[in-house]
Amino acid sequence: MIPAAFDYHAPSTLDEALQLLARHGDAAKLLAGGHSLIPAMRFRLAQPEVLIDLNKLDTLRYVREEGGALVIGAMTPEAWLEESAVVQQRFPLLADAVAVIADPLVRNRGTVGGNLAHADPANDQPAVMLAHGATIVAHGAHGRRTIAIDDFFVSLFESALQPGEIMVEIRVPAPAPSSGGAYVKMERKVGDYATSAVAVQLTMSGQTIASARVALTNVNPVPMRSAGAEAALVGKPATEEVFEAAGKAAAAECDPSSDLRGTAEFKRDITRVLAKRAIRRAVARAQGRS
Ligand code: FAD
Repeated sequence: MIPAAFDYHAPSTLDEALQLLARHGDAAKLLAGGHSLIPAMRFRLAQPEVLIDLNKLDTLRYVREEGGALVIGAMTPEAWLEESAVVQQRFPLLADAVAVIADPLVRNRGTVGGNLAHADPANDQPAVMLAHGATIVAHGAHGRRTIAIDDFFVSLFESALQPGEIMVEIRVPAPAPSSGGAYVKMERKVGDYATSAVAVQLTMSGQTIASARVALTNVNPVPMRSAGAEAALVGKPATEEVFEAAGKAAAAECDPSSDLRGTAEFKRDITRVLAKRAIRRAVARAQGRS
């Protein structure tokens, strides 16, 4: 289908974009990579009267390390993370995930900010950033504010961004020593959204799991952390029994729906298996074995 008619603006500064957003209010939508918004417009699920295209805002495209933390401009294409030495060497959870987000065509245009702002539980970046304990930086009429990722996903396709705000940056904290992360995704075919996927970021103290964050993709109406899986890991030795208990807790806690990718029961069990694999890989990385 062809989208409904809309006016189009392509501001070249953030200030200009913010002014346009303030002027057009609810009638406007921001356009980043367009890989979620344009399909929604073609199906007439979204019918903005005004599109504000952010693609001229080169100042929002960067991936760099600042004091050990990773800072990512909201308009950074996913593909840039695949090519980033810092991501590949120091943020293995993120490196795992970007390699399995859609396909190279989508990753070349789709942005990290758009992936998160869309608040789609099927997208991969929400679980990755939940497991990393990231911070979102939003810019609105009254300046900048930060939003903890735990407070960012409000409901299906709804984030904590307020009207008039633009996401400008994502900040991923520096992993502590002896940390490891992993993302394990099951998809029907290469390039598909997850049937289920699990993101894990943890820190070891000797043979004990000192801290852990576990988050799930596409098995809940809202991107979620699994508090049960985390509780099953923290303070425990890194054994297969502990990994199994955490996997079971994640499976019990999620709320998948039955669809073309499988029944809810199947997705729960897959979540259990993927959680175990992701935890095992994260531990191995934390111990320098992988
Ligand atoms: P857009 O589509 O341009 O925007 C999405 C939404 O976010 C819009 O509401 C827009 O207004 C808002 N927005 C965008 N940027 C900002 C900002 N800076 N501030 C505030 N609001 C903003 N994703 C996955 O994670 N995993 C997959 O496996 C996957 N498979 C895909 C397969 C196909 C065939 C396609 C077409 C897409 C797939 N996607 C997948 C989605 C893809 O990653 C999208 O690029 C992503 O969901 C949205 O990013 P975008 O930059 O394209 O945003």
